[in-house]
Amino acid sequence: MGYIFASFTWWSYLLYDKNESLHEAQINAAYLNHNAAIGSTVSFDTFQKTETYFSIIEKHNRQKWMIFGEGSVFLVLLILGTIQLFRTFSKEVSLAKQQNNFLLSITHELKSPIASIKLSLQTLSKRIQFEEKYERLITNSIEDTDRLQGLVENILFAARMDNHSYSFERKEENISDLVEHIIEKFKINVGSTRAIHVVIQPDLDYKIDKEALRSALINILENAYKYSDMASLIQVHLYKKGNQIIFEVIDEGKGISSEEKLKIFEKFYRIGNEATRNTKGTGLGLFIVKKVIESHNGKVWVENNQPKGSIFKVALPIEDEKINHLTIKETIHQQNV
Ligand code: ADP
Repeated sequence: MGYIFASFTWWSYLLYDKNESLHEAQINAAYLNHNAAIGSTVSFDTFQKTETYFSIIEKHNRQKWMIFGEGSVFLVLLILGTIQLFRTFSKEVSLAKQQNNFLLSITHELKSPIASIKLSLQTLSKRIQFEEKYERLITNSIEDTDRLQGLVENILFAARMDNHSYSFERKEENISDLVEHIIEKFKINVGSTRAIHVVIQPDLDYKIDKEALRSALINILENAYKYSDMASLIQVHLYKKGNQIIFEVIDEGKGISSEEKLKIFEKFYRIGNEATRNTKGTGLGLFIVKKVIESHNGKVWVENNQPKGSIFKVALPIEDEKINHLTIKETIHQQNV
């Protein structure tokens, strides 16, 4: 806005200045023409009493008022525009704050009742021998509350990272064990419905915020499950390459186009439209993944799998050499039912 005001002033001054020079040149030319027309040289004072001189002065005055008039209208519009812009801008800022506060409060409100319902259902399912039908109902409810809990945690986590109120606390941990636990839990959750091939290099240590990283890796894994066919294979690899620890999840889903490869990491971004989509989600998962990985100074990106599907890769840089066990002892878990 400063630049616009400065250039407006500068152009107004230039226009005014040019108009004055043009006026002077017109007077001089008219004076010479007048002398040429009458065939003698009259004094400038005498020329100032002629009609030609008055009409030039009148035209000049009109042009001057036009410049002032139009300049003032532009200035007023510019000031009004600036005021409007600042109003809209501050409204936007307070709206973003409200949205953030809303997310934080709603998630807090939802979190405790969900946890308490889940606990009650778990207690009920252990103590009382129900008929099969009731047991199924309880199991379904527990799964539902699990999903709700995951959703609420994701929203809360995203909101806290967005307003920088989450502080990452990193400690040296065995990342191989962490991935192993994640896979075990994942296999229990998805049951025997999916073929998962896992290769984990053992004893890889890294300074991590365990809960944050767990949530990020689970998000990638759940996406591979959600966005590919039930009959297709999911592969998970964890290994050290050069001075990086690489975690990758390979699926055989429908893949992600080049234009969407960066967009999917934006907050709330989901491919396709809500009406035709049949997978559940909020578009927050990969936003969280990106934030968490970047807070560990790492990178996350997606590549095409061949012949189809996606490869999500996370690379964590090893700043100083802390990995003691470099003998690669691969643990292979295979579940193919
Ligand atoms: P959500 O899964 O809740 O929609 P995410 O942020 O985890 O949100 O993912 C954003 C979008 O990226 C998803 O809606 C989906 O369209 C796409 N996506 C993520 N992972 C995969 C995958 N493995 N294969 C195909 N598309 C994916």
